[in-house]
Formats: sequence, C-alpha cells, structure tokens
Amino acid sequence: MLIFDTIAAPATPSGPGGIGILRLSGPRAETVLLGLFHPTRPRKQLRSHQLYHGQVVDAQGVVIDEVLAVVMRAPHSYTREDVVEIHCHGGNVILRRILDQLLEMGVRLANPGEFTQRAFLNGRLDLSEAEAVMDLIQSRSEGSRRVALEQMQGRLSRAIHGFQNTVADLLALVETYVDFPEEDIPLPQIETLGDQSRDVRQQIELLLQNFENGRILREGLSVLILGCPNVGKSSLLNALLGEARAIVNPLPGTTRDTIEEHLSLGGIPLRLVDTAGVRETSDLIEAEGVRRARDKIAGADLILFVVDGSRGLTPDDLFALELCSGQRLLLIVNKSDLGTLPLVEELSALPRVEISAHTGEGLEALRQAIIGFFRAEDGREGFDTPLLSDRRHREALVLARQALERFESAVAQNHSVEFLAVELREALQALGQITGETTADDILERIFSRFCIGK
Ligand code: GDP
Repeated sequence: MLIFDTIAAPATPSGPGGIGILRLSGPRAETVLLGLFHPTRPRKQLRSHQLYHGQVVDAQGVVIDEVLAVVMRAPHSYTREDVVEIHCHGGNVILRRILDQLLEMGVRLANPGEFTQRAFLNGRLDLSEAEAVMDLIQSRSEGSRRVALEQMQGRLSRAIHGFQNTVADLLALVETYVDFPEEDIPLPQIETLGDQSRDVRQQIELLLQNFENGRILREGLSVLILGCPNVGKSSLLNALLGEARAIVNPLPGTTRDTIEEHLSLGGIPLRLVDTAGVRETSDLIEAEGVRRARDKIAGADLILFVVDGSRGLTPDDLFALELCSGQRLLLIVNKSDLGTLPLVEELSALPRVEISAHTGEGLEALRQAIIGFFRAEDGREGFDTPLLSDRRHREALVLARQALERFESAVAQNHSVEFLAVELREALQALGQITGETTADDILERIFSRFCIGK
C-alpha cells in the first residue's frame, strides 16, 4: 500500500437531508476522529466496521452535532487505507463546521475523485472498475446502471486480464528465442502462436461489435428533433418529456438555440435535442441555428424529422430533409388532429409515425419506434461478452487488435522473433491502458478529475 496524507470531504450532496456524511481516508483518520468525537458510552478503542453513537465537539469542547461514527481499518475499506465516516444531520452548516474542524486538525480537503483514485493506486480497483464507479453514480437509466455495475464488478476487467495473460504467455515464449538468436522457433509452435493470437483477437472483435449498444446505454441514444420552423418540434419535445420545458411559440423561428433534455425510455437513456427550426434564411441568428443543427445531425444516432401533416410539404421541409441525407430518420407527421394531407414521394420511403403533439395521439407508437431502433441492434440478451461502453476503452482495444493482426502476419511471414516481440508488447501496452497499468499520468488525472468531491 502506498502511504498518502489524510484527506476528508463530504460524501453526500449539499443541501438539507436526513443525514450528511463526512468521509476521511489516510493514516491519521482514526486519530483525528478520536480528537473530536465523544462516544456516548466511553471506550478505550473503537472496533472496526462498527457504528458508534456520540457527539462531535469543536476545539473548545462545544458540541457541534450528535452523530454516528464508524472506523473501517485498512485494508478492509474503500481506499484500502483507514477510512472514517461521520454521519451527522444533513445540513450545510453542520457539515461545514465539522469539516472546518477536521481541516484545523491537519486533514486536507480531498480533490474530486481522490478516494477512488486511492482505491485504484492501492490496487483495490483497476482503472476500468474505478471509471465505472462514476458511471454508476451518474447513470440516468436502468440500462446505464446495469452496464456500469457490471463494469464496476470487474466483468470487463476479467475479460481484459484474460487477454493480457494469453498475450503475456506468447511474449514469454517469443522472448526465450530472442535470448537465443541462433535458434528458430520450431514450426508447430509457430502455428500455435498465430492461433492463440487469433483467438484473443476474435474475442476482442466481439467486444468491439457490442460497443455501439454499450455506448448508447452509457451516453444515451442521441435523438435529434429536426424540421422547419413551426411544425411542432418544441411541442413534440414537451409531449415526450411530459412537461413544458421548451418554449412553444406560434411565430416561426422561436427556438433559436438547441435544447437538450434527458429521459429514459424502456430503460434506454435518451438525449433528446431540439434544434432551432431549419430553413434557408438570411437572418444571421437563424443561420447560426442551421449551422449548429448541421453539426448535431452528424453526431445523432437517430433523427426525428418532423413535418406538419395538415399543411403538406413545403420547400422548407425539403431543405431540412436534404440536411439529413445519409442519417437514420424517423418521419414524424405531426398535427394529425388537424387532418393529414398526402405526403410527396420524397418522404414515402421513410419509416413514419403520425402523431398529434397536442392530443398525444400516436405518441406511444413513437416511443415504441424509438426503442425499436435500439433493440434492433441489441442482440446481446444472454450473451457472454461484457458490454464495452467507453470510447477510451474502445480505442485501446482497436490498438490491441491492430498489434495482434500485425503479429499474426509477422508470424505467417516468418519475421524475426524481435519483431514478433515488439507487436506483442504493443498489444499488452494497449490492453494495460484499459486496466490502468500503462495509462499515462495526465490521462489518469483527467479521468479522476471528472469525479465528484467525496467519491
Ligand atoms: P417548432 O417551431 O417546430 O418548435 O413548433 P412549436 O412546437 O413551437 O409549435 C408551433 C405551433 O404549432 C404552435 O402554435 C403549436 O401550438 C402548434 N402545434 C404543435 N403541435 C401541434 C399539434 O399536434 N396539433 C396542433 N393543432 N397544433 C400543434
């Protein structure tokens, strides 16, 4: 275990609550607790992992709050250091007073994610498991919670460790021949080298194939609401959200900027983006809206292309449609309560749902159609492969796959053993970026700085 200083931070969000928890970690955590905590029943020593009732007092011995306190001695704690939790009443002033007292006693305020960083540095979690802790806290849907929990419990890590072991064995074998350059690797062994690498590479391939589903569960399916002004985009967004968030206005061109809202549909997180109405325009602000919409179109998983079915198609609709070429579209024919005119050929090939954002007619069919877009790709039910959800992990796996491909073709072409060893080391380096063994310090910093204080 590495020795660090002692840190403290509130582990619960600010604002009034039933309880508020302050957390300490480090070699002085218990001593510091004993300096301000008076157990109701005095005792010489606190037992690990047991809650004690008592009072927290300030430097003058004046009571700050009545609390419960627990010591979790190393290594059986979240950070593998001595950890202390003080459960006080959940009020900002109380937490602040106790925290100030701890800081006066020489404890340092923890940086965001520092507890988890210590758990990682002390080997309790590997990097992908540590990253999953934050994903779990931030998950916005049942699906993202499930993926984060699996990852936190080491499902992805176990797969990666399996790859690392095989590649390390291959490397050990190849290196024996690097040390005895006059010897060639015997032919049968050469063949198994290639086979073993292929086997790992195929498993990596499976993980990569599942990435889209994992990413959508982690980041949310990005759904863009697009169409020309006044077709009812904001009304649709509100109807889906079930509350009036976006501004609805009968004048064309009111939703000038993009609005992003999150919701969960059938366990799938959605990032729903309402764009400014797009149409050819000389108005500078509106033109800026069109430019932003173009950027969003490129990054969307699905576009809800809205038209006003009661009005029939206009040149503006066609202009907006052109912006979306090549993207996955679902045609929303809105205002069905006003009657629907037949639509022109350009739109007849698109999957469509008729709705009324006003009466709610067709909304359920729309929800099912959106979920259907995700489910069509989700062939993972009962699958043995863990779900890859993080872009950083994906990039590392792509590098590992490429290194193994190069290794296999080098084996096939009978390249020198030094050359083979280089490719295997690259594969190991890439895999280690996921679990954290080979991750550069600046990347580690960036990962943990995204955490919240007190985790
Ligand atoms: P946006 O510019 O595309 O965002 O359109 P809005 O949502 O602001 O709606 C423009 C106008 O159409 C408003 O007056 C809405 O009340 C009206 N509208 C929207 N959806 C419907 C609908 O389903 N039926 C009817 N009758 N009017 C609608």
